[in-house]
Amino acid sequence: MTDTLNLGPVRVRYAPSPTGDPHVGNLRTALLNWVFARHAGGQFIVRIEDTDRERMVDGAEERILEALDWLGLDWDEGPGKGGPFAPYVQSERKALDKYGDAARQLIANGHAYECTCTPERLEQLRQRQRAEKKPTGYDGYCRNKSADELAGEKAQGLASVVRFKVPLEGEVVFNDFLRGPLTFDPSLLQDFVILKSDGYPTYHLAHIVDDHEMQITHVLRSEEWISSTPRHVMMYEGFGWEPPEFVHLSILLGPDRSKLSKRHGDTALLEFRDKGFLPGTMFNFLSLLGWSAGDDEEVMTREQVIEKFSLDGLNAAPSIFDITKLEWMNGVYLRQLGVDALAELLLPELEADDGLPASISRPLDKVFVTELVPLIHERLKVIDRTEVSEMLSYFFEEEIELDPAEVVQKGMDEATTASALESAAARLESAEPFEAESLEQQFRTLCEELELKPRQLFGALRVSLTARRVAPPLFDTMVAIGRDRSVDRVRRAAGLLSGTGARA
Ligand code: GLU
Repeated sequence: MTDTLNLGPVRVRYAPSPTGDPHVGNLRTALLNWVFARHAGGQFIVRIEDTDRERMVDGAEERILEALDWLGLDWDEGPGKGGPFAPYVQSERKALDKYGDAARQLIANGHAYECTCTPERLEQLRQRQRAEKKPTGYDGYCRNKSADELAGEKAQGLASVVRFKVPLEGEVVFNDFLRGPLTFDPSLLQDFVILKSDGYPTYHLAHIVDDHEMQITHVLRSEEWISSTPRHVMMYEGFGWEPPEFVHLSILLGPDRSKLSKRHGDTALLEFRDKGFLPGTMFNFLSLLGWSAGDDEEVMTREQVIEKFSLDGLNAAPSIFDITKLEWMNGVYLRQLGVDALAELLLPELEADDGLPASISRPLDKVFVTELVPLIHERLKVIDRTEVSEMLSYFFEEEIELDPAEVVQKGMDEATTASALESAAARLESAEPFEAESLEQQFRTLCEELELKPRQLFGALRVSLTARRVAPPLFDTMVAIGRDRSVDRVRRAAGLLSGTGARA
């Protein structure tokens, strides 16, 4: 007996269809439902809507659940968890004939009928409508067929679907929480299919039956579903059921204000995980797509989002999916992480096969990785394997591949550079203490002695030590590379320039 269950006041659901890799917009819907449930002390239900068998994609359900897990959106009822209204997968519910029963209920009370029109007839109808420049859609041919006629056709083996009987007049009105009352003309909706000939329900029927049975109080879903909602409202009326509160969330746009799509870059949630965004960043960022706390705070913990959430903070205006903002926010989150936590994140990326070059032996020294973190902390936007490996490889390599031309700085030539580097190598050998601040002083003095600008000497040293023009602060880099390897690298660079060293 479901009505004796002690249910919370708010019951919301995330009802994905496993038709592809879960999209950021889809997970935004999940997230706002989850936050609402947690804020209200209600329940968050996950229901898999897999009745469109042709659009099913292998592995998509697993990816959806993986995405929810990664974002930390735990569900109170749903796959793997069960609950009072199990099963939570529609194909399994279909096997229990829940949708067949519901369709028969609508037929019995005069709100639906069986239709035996063949695909050929429907195609001819469509062509005729097109030729006459009329809107295409079902013409109600089977609407008034007698039970005998229908039985005869079915006895001959004609397949049938069940269609909802859309009222021929009046209007459909429903309230959208964010947009107020919306009015539709039912005559434009045509008698739509609710149960297919294979016994599978369409989305319209299946989700209503389930939302009703599962006692869903609020439907938070994307604006794209508004045009379907009049159908749903008519069906609720047909069943004599109370509809839930409809809250259609804002549409997501790319920075150019067109509908967010692949054209704008990644749109699959897990791609962001794979590209090195933190789950906390993604949670925070998605929560702000169509919702705001009403203050100027943008960087919020999960707990703060839950606490500040209200339906009134939702906004119907389109939200821009701004990747630059996401990167900025991820940088903020990365900087909030302590050095040790960051080292934990970096270690597996660097050790991966496609991380640091294969010549560097694994496992890496965790203490050393932890020492390197402060050198790149400020510059990190994402924990991208390729990027961090590129940023750090020269700290691990014995020898680096050097282009001698890169070493020579403005206003210098190969000979002056080689001799400056020789002096620098000698200074490095004897420098005491071997610490960044003191090294800087000693090398500034050396610049004066050699009559070079710091930019010149430091530039040549940077390239000699790292093979890069952009690298972390020079003297911290020297310390991390260590005295011996630094001396070797600087000497080698000098040798390459004076022609005495081996070419790289
Ligand atoms: N299965 C639908 C989807 O994939 C659910 C829509 C709804 O929330 O009603 O988005």
